[in-house]
Amino acid sequence: MPLPKCWPLFTKAKGGFDLFLDKIASMRKNDPYSEAKKLIESSRHITVTGHLNPDADALGTALGLWHIFKRLSKRTDLFFASHPLPQHLGFLPGFKNIRQSINPQSDLIVTVDSGSLDRIGIEIEDGVKIINIDHHRSNTRFADVNIVEPEFASASEAAFKLVESAGWDVSKEAAVNFYAALLSDTGFFGYEGVNERVFDFAKRLLKLGADAEWTARMLRENQPLSKLRLLPKVLQTLRLYLDGRVAGLDITLRMLEESGASVSETDDIVNYARSLATVEVGFLIREEADGGLKVSLRSKNRVDVCKIALSFGGGGHIRAAGFTVNGLERELLKEKLLKRIEEELQ
Ligand code: 5GP
Ligand code: MN
Repeated sequence: MPLPKCWPLFTKAKGGFDLFLDKIASMRKNDPYSEAKKLIESSRHITVTGHLNPDADALGTALGLWHIFKRLSKRTDLFFASHPLPQHLGFLPGFKNIRQSINPQSDLIVTVDSGSLDRIGIEIEDGVKIINIDHHRSNTRFADVNIVEPEFASASEAAFKLVESAGWDVSKEAAVNFYAALLSDTGFFGYEGVNERVFDFAKRLLKLGADAEWTARMLRENQPLSKLRLLPKVLQTLRLYLDGRVAGLDITLRMLEESGASVSETDDIVNYARSLATVEVGFLIREEADGGLKVSLRSKNRVDVCKIALSFGGGGHIRAAGFTVNGLERELLKEKLLKRIEEELQ
């Protein structure tokens, strides 16, 4: 049987046990969970935030942590830079407390579900500490403490692991938020990362007071009319490429204007492109207010779209990723994108 790695430290004649204790201390120091606990408990004012155009994972995870930090009697703010916020997620407990400007008193920023610092949408002042809680493979480890778990199905799983290891209380409001985050990022328990661990987590959240039926209903059936008005316009643009293995959709500013829909209502429309039987990769190109083009990529079970997004300066997960380009015309972008997708389809 192989000896444990620390064994030689025990057996060293002089100072061996001291060295062993040093090793344990340094392991603790490098453990991001205990580092995060220390930073959070010693901070004076925490701001919890997430990525631009926040989805249910970013909002639910941030809101869940906010409820938990408040119970620790911490001065805590919630901040999201995007305006307007997705009103269909307004049912998440605590949603109305979200600030759209950062509290300058914060000495600690906790970011969730954000693969890189530019995804937060603000500059963070020198001297302010950052904790990065995420599950994106492409995470750039931009913070003082990085809790990055690419195997996790939702950022809420990593947040919950922190809460649990720190021994903090989880209120019903926090459990509801974490459950919504999990449900949304697993595609209602349908995506690849779903396994026994995910269901164990879901079960714990239900025990803590999350309501499965209500949360699912609020996520699926709380849509504004503008979203359904937008949908047929977008589906009209559907085109197939590469023998039907790729499908693309377009959203223009004009479509958003005509339907009255906001950007957050476009979130899951790319899934229609992937839903076709023959399709492995679906993409959606959305025109942004500044003329930039935001690309969403989804794949079924073969192509690593994170790799494709990274090559255009973006990031994400294996089956869901994205990037934004500026100064490139839509048809030219499509040409370049299809070339990259074709390489990955080989
Ligand atoms: P969506 O297509 O829904 O915007 O994003 C799909 C996934 O890719 C999400 O997990 C999202 O965080 C990530 N993602 C989307 N756009 C970008 C981007 O520009 N940069 C990075 N790093 N990740 C992105
Ligand atoms: Mn996520």
